[in-house]
Amino acid sequence: MTTASPPVPANHSNASICRGCWDQMRVPIPIRGPLALPFRAFGITRSKMNPDICTICERSFQYVKKQRQISASATILFADIRGFTDLSERIEAVKLSEIVSLFHDRCAQAIWAHDGIVNKQMGDGLMAIFNFPIVRKDHATAAIMAAVDIQRSCTAALNSLNPDIGGLPGRALGVGIGIHTGDVQIGEFSSFRSDFTAIGGVVNLAARLESQAAAGEILVSAETATQDPDLTAGAEVRPLMLKGIEQQVQARVLVKS
Ligand SMILES: [Zn+2]
Repeated sequence: MTTASPPVPANHSNASICRGCWDQMRVPIPIRGPLALPFRAFGITRSKMNPDICTICERSFQYVKKQRQISASATILFADIRGFTDLSERIEAVKLSEIVSLFHDRCAQAIWAHDGIVNKQMGDGLMAIFNFPIVRKDHATAAIMAAVDIQRSCTAALNSLNPDIGGLPGRALGVGIGIHTGDVQIGEFSSFRSDFTAIGGVVNLAARLESQAAAGEILVSAETATQDPDLTAGAEVRPLMLKGIEQQVQARVLVKS
């Protein structure tokens, strides 16, 4: 793996205490600096989901929330590399892994810069949650801004990686993103994994939106768009019939500029 991690964005907070534990429990858990050392000895470190939260809020949901699951308002973002399946049959494994790791690095930086967490990584795709465990009242806005950042940094990086890949006619390599806002169930839903995730109709719809997004597109649900009319003003409205969803969805299409 030769891809270097991109520099930490200027607006990244680098909090000295875990923002998740603070927002959820008002408990200060040191995650940076000398005060973090004794915690590290007990295996409490920064989470891979977001370096501003710790492994307590990542893996001990029931301890943090005092229940197995909660219902919470959140914005869910799905992103994946469009054209990847097609590509994976045509280029070597080393190049493929370079593309995937570049995608995940750039996405994570953009999501963290807006206080989201990278909850799941699935091959050439990922799922992010905004508003848990770091609380952001403007979580819809945060997710849209993260998506815009993802499109900006991934497009440039993917194109620079290998001009031969992006340049094939009809086989543009780019990122597709879907975003939806609403009440989700958050908790531990697996008996053999201890990290939390979000489930429910809102999560499914976000995933379906992503599956319909072309390379370079951000598909935003009406519910998310309502939360930030300014960011989505003038966007194309695309009616979509999505698998498993009865009513037509009026998606807003944000295209990378
Ligand atoms: Zn924490």
